[in-house]
Amino acid sequence: MELINIQDVNVRYKNGVNAIHDLSLKIKKGDFVFVIGGSGSGKSTFIKMLYREIKPSSGKIILGGLNVAKLRNSKVYKLRRKLGVVFQDYRLLPKLTVYENVAFALECVGADKKEIRQKSLKALELVGLKNKTRQYPDQLAGGEQQRVAIARAIVNNPKLLICDEPTGNLDPERSMEIVKLLDSINKTMGTTIIMATHDEIIVNKMKKRVITLKDGYLISDEEKGKYYEGI
Ligand code: ADP
Repeated sequence: MELINIQDVNVRYKNGVNAIHDLSLKIKKGDFVFVIGGSGSGKSTFIKMLYREIKPSSGKIILGGLNVAKLRNSKVYKLRRKLGVVFQDYRLLPKLTVYENVAFALECVGADKKEIRQKSLKALELVGLKNKTRQYPDQLAGGEQQRVAIARAIVNNPKLLICDEPTGNLDPERSMEIVKLLDSINKTMGTTIIMATHDEIIVNKMKKRVITLKDGYLISDEEKGKYYEGI
């Protein structure tokens, strides 16, 4: 079963730049996909259109039964409930504790207090941070902050987890730990994962599907792919 079906998508920014050209691809439920490409190749644009931060200029994006490209702004929350997003710079709320950062994601969807507590603690346990619930983000190392961001992104049990350069600020060892965590979430929870990255070592080690973009074109799409040379 496919989770995402992208057909003939183009993204043209207001300044005339064509960031994505005639893109068509499908992503199956439960897949783990790397999106790679040099700077300016369209990775962020691709990621952003999946969570409707930007709208494609033409084409279709069907995600979990929703037509993302056509979705009204007032209905975007329906899409956002199906997915979690993790960013390079973590984007935690500095004045909230680790626990509160994760719980906040559930408060936003109106869960009750008991459910919020159970699910938040479970997500924090899964990322190995159950002993740091009362700390504030600036008391944690980068890798730990990213784990909190991952807990927050999965606490609602989304179908899709979108990660935009999640290891971009981390050293190689922490980066590998984060990707191993994502791999285990993919395997144990069945969450589909799409991860944009520059990290050649990780891509070559994990042997997942690799989609390569160059100047807004899809130039390679391989199962158990490798980091594409020369991008
Ligand atoms: P990547 O994430 O691979 O570095 P981007 O998706 O950020 O690539 O950018 C793809 C192209 O679109 C680049 O030429 C970039 O300059 C351009 N671009 C990105 N965002 C905008 C924007 N908001 N307005 C205009 N052009 C943009």
